[in-house]
Amino acid sequence: MNPSERFPAGTAPSVAVVGAGLGGLSAAIRLASMGARVTVYEQQSLPGGKAGSETRGAYRFDTGPSLLTMPYVIEELFGHAGADWTDYLQVERLEVICNYFWRDGTRLHAYGDPERFAAEVEAKLGEPAGHVLAYLEYARRIHETASELFLWNSLHDRRTYLSRLFWSRLVRLGRIDAMRSMHAANASFFRDPRLVQLFDRYATYNGSSPYKTPATLNIIPFVEYVQGGYVVNGGIHALPRALERLAAKLGVDIRYGERVDRIVTEAQRGRRGWKVRGVEVGATFVPADAVVSNVDVSVTYPQLLADETSKQLRRYRSFEPSSSGLVFYWGIRGEFPLLTVNNILFGSDYEAEFRSIFDERRCPDDPTIYINVTSKVTPSDAPNNGENWFILVNAPYVDGQDWASESARVREIVIRRLDATLGGARSVEGMIEEAGVMTPEDIARRTMSYRGALYGISSNSRLAAFARHPNRSPDYAGLYFCGGSTHPGGGMPLAMLSGRIAANLIRYDHA
Ligand SMILES: Cc1cc2nc3c(=O)[nH]c(=O)nc-3n(C[C@H](O)[C@H](O)[C@H](O)COP(=O)(O)OP(=O)(O)OC[C@H]3O[C@@H](n4cnc5c(N)ncnc54)[C@H](O)[C@@H]3O)c2cc1C
Repeated sequence: MNPSERFPAGTAPSVAVVGAGLGGLSAAIRLASMGARVTVYEQQSLPGGKAGSETRGAYRFDTGPSLLTMPYVIEELFGHAGADWTDYLQVERLEVICNYFWRDGTRLHAYGDPERFAAEVEAKLGEPAGHVLAYLEYARRIHETASELFLWNSLHDRRTYLSRLFWSRLVRLGRIDAMRSMHAANASFFRDPRLVQLFDRYATYNGSSPYKTPATLNIIPFVEYVQGGYVVNGGIHALPRALERLAAKLGVDIRYGERVDRIVTEAQRGRRGWKVRGVEVGATFVPADAVVSNVDVSVTYPQLLADETSKQLRRYRSFEPSSSGLVFYWGIRGEFPLLTVNNILFGSDYEAEFRSIFDERRCPDDPTIYINVTSKVTPSDAPNNGENWFILVNAPYVDGQDWASESARVREIVIRRLDATLGGARSVEGMIEEAGVMTPEDIARRTMSYRGALYGISSNSRLAAFARHPNRSPDYAGLYFCGGSTHPGGGMPLAMLSGRIAANLIRYDHA
């Protein structure tokens, strides 16, 4: 770390971080390595928030995210703290990122090497390899224009707009393809509808519909195919555990099972507005110079600040929440060589699937099914001759649905589809040794995410993609935000970058 990034002697603040999600832990580590005194309050008994872990019998499951991209975000954070990330975490670049299955019987290995992937697409789908390579080159240009500016910097700090980076990117802004939908762009590149569907799926990486989200999100295939998709040895939960260890080494005090009930504020003397004084944990008031909320913006305002009328909250809530997920955790007694770590079984009508999720707010009748099997790379996650299946179906955010009947209905659809696709002698039903389910309502309750949205707001409009909540509160001095509901967005690497941005803003503000 550059010594000038440390808080000047005598100015290091005390900071309370609310929530040990990936954003909160990243902010805590960065602040502690700059010299701040940091306490993290986490209501659950483990770190990671959505990236949790649970064990059922002899099977271990990651509760949420599964595919890691942009590992250099982790490397940068550890490097900032003077640590080598490989001492804390083992990751492996996937040779096959995902196996795809279509209803017509087509199967495709999505290789993590662009040339090999393009050749596989040509062999299996008949789409010329050159089309895929041209597409990834187009995605690279979006990445080159947008990534550093939009993902690594605050969009609400004037320094960003005074930077050379901003002006150099501004002249190339047309390249980010924000004026048409992701689907329209993909359909213009490919003639095979299966390939369009494959690339349209990347809209779900931030909980959006490809028919509405801007084509700027086509940055994601570049990240996945060119920079690589990774698995973490020990499962994704090993990531928050690694962050927890690093934080502890830097002196961060992480308090599990402690829920922050209120962010305490007072009127600013001689100025309009409010400033934070600390947090209330049960009956205890803990003073702090700054507070970082890793809690969903839509929950922070009404519940932690008792502020229902905030302009920020109203603006934020005017955007549609992202989709949620219905997850089945199944310990399977049996082995399925057709499956790899990540697998997608596509539904037959993608447009109907997104109509169902966002317009009708019910789980699709013919959903795309994602199966993640970490025991393929971490054998200790399942017993011998067993596999730990994490099955995710995209689901609407909570809006009055009956989740008991929705999950029973979807479970049957999933079993039928798995039996038809995997073609085993026995039904999958009879091989389920351990079973759990997580509905959007459970996600909302466990991680306090508004309406169970996985990624904060969706990017279902041109503006929403750039309209996430700022990382510094415009209304409360000393209050900062990180996590998937804030800039730059949801998903593991972006949540971690939000922690970076929030910590840097605190550093600037205490200069
Ligand atoms: C099923 C599922 C699948 C996903 N798949 C992927 C994927 O494949 N790839 C990917 O990149 N992303 C994926 N995501 C999204 C990713 O998990 C999130 O975007 C990211 O982990 C969010 O991190 P966060 O910093 O917002 O914190 P969160 O995970 O939202 O954690 C917030 C923490 O704050 C705590 N908290 C809340 N209120 C309080 C309070 N008052 N006091 C104390 N603590 C409090 C909560 O308990 C929680 O631990 C998935 C998410 C889910 C649920």
